[in-house]
Amino acid sequence: MSNTQALTKTLVFPLDVQSDNESLLHEGRLECRRVFNEVLRLNYDGWDWGKIQDTVEQNADLVRNTAQCIIDKAFDALNTYYDNDDWGRPWYKHEQFPMEMNYTEGYNLFFEDETVRFRISAKPYNHVEGEIRGTQDQFNLLRQATEDADWHIGIADVLCHQGREELHITVTNETAEIADKQDAQTVIGVDVNEDCVGLCAVTESGIEDSVVIEHPEVKTQRHEYFTIRKRMQSVGQTKFENEIQDEERQFVHDQLHQLSRDIVEWAEQFENPVIVFENLKDMRDSIDYGTRMNRRLHSVPFAQLQNFVSYKAAWDGIPSEKIDPAYTSQECVDCGHTTRSNRTGKRFQCVQCGFQDHADRKAALLIGARGLKKLNQNVPALNSPPIVRVRRQCNGLSEPADHNPVSTVRGHQTDGKTGSVRN
Ligand SMILES: [Zn+2]
Repeated sequence: MSNTQALTKTLVFPLDVQSDNESLLHEGRLECRRVFNEVLRLNYDGWDWGKIQDTVEQNADLVRNTAQCIIDKAFDALNTYYDNDDWGRPWYKHEQFPMEMNYTEGYNLFFEDETVRFRISAKPYNHVEGEIRGTQDQFNLLRQATEDADWHIGIADVLCHQGREELHITVTNETAEIADKQDAQTVIGVDVNEDCVGLCAVTESGIEDSVVIEHPEVKTQRHEYFTIRKRMQSVGQTKFENEIQDEERQFVHDQLHQLSRDIVEWAEQFENPVIVFENLKDMRDSIDYGTRMNRRLHSVPFAQLQNFVSYKAAWDGIPSEKIDPAYTSQECVDCGHTTRSNRTGKRFQCVQCGFQDHADRKAALLIGARGLKKLNQNVPALNSPPIVRVRRQCNGLSEPADHNPVSTVRGHQTDGKTGSVRN
């Protein structure tokens, strides 16, 4: 059995501009930014939204449909802000701003034998033309989106990334098939920490494999950016603060994308997997999980990582599930004894039965076990997990097991799929 769901994916294409007016793309983006800022300014001046819409649209030096896109984007930002009481007030943009366009209105694509040509209406009556560059897989997806009744091509952003013009096109599959989690055979427990992610694959018959993926960059970079921002605030350099914040957001965003790709890729090697996370809502509602939970919640953008993973998994037909996160770091998988003193840093040792493990792998194991239980499957004995493999995110190197901080490890090292694939 499977469920269907609408899923949207963004495909990134470098542009090979062949008309002699590439600079229009930059001008178009400046105009989009002006339009966005103008909506905010008029709103803060107390204008009625209907009047803002009419005035800004008429004065915009953009294709009408594109102006509408940008105005809607500004209204969306304002709505989000008003819905969330005073949090993250939208402010004027100074940095790069993408031009957002609707398919066949602001931009169009033309499929030829080997190539796909684009036409972007950067300004009214002014088209920028050329070819998009991409892989065969990307072109196939685009074609599918134009030909298949259940698919469509949506909004695209044109932006300049490291000096190169890019078109980011969204394609949606309205009826993507995702396996029913009740049919899952392998539960992938995911334990997210400030510097690593523990993954463990469990089935009714035991532990299939596990890995700990380290991602120290997210934590250190966020700390660095935090320090920079504080320093700027203390000397009153607030003008660049937004830029730094955007840079930080972009960095963390890229890291989380890579990490989520690693996680999904690892999960895919198992039979009918379901990915299981801790339920964030429960984590936030509880005041009793102690300093470790608080540190985790503040150091990794959990919700974002979970969303990325669930989304990428869904594209591959893999479902996700959430479990109660209570004491996942303190509970023994062998005897169930739960106490803070079971854990010291990265080391877990049960004070009651003596079971030992890498603390974050153990947490992933427990999350996997709770996943099995939630899906009404039998939970096997989990007291002899395989050797913990620890590897770094991105570089894909698998470190030898003797780097392992756990002194006694049992079982055999299995050769899972290692290395990171960028797609
Ligand atoms: Zn125990």
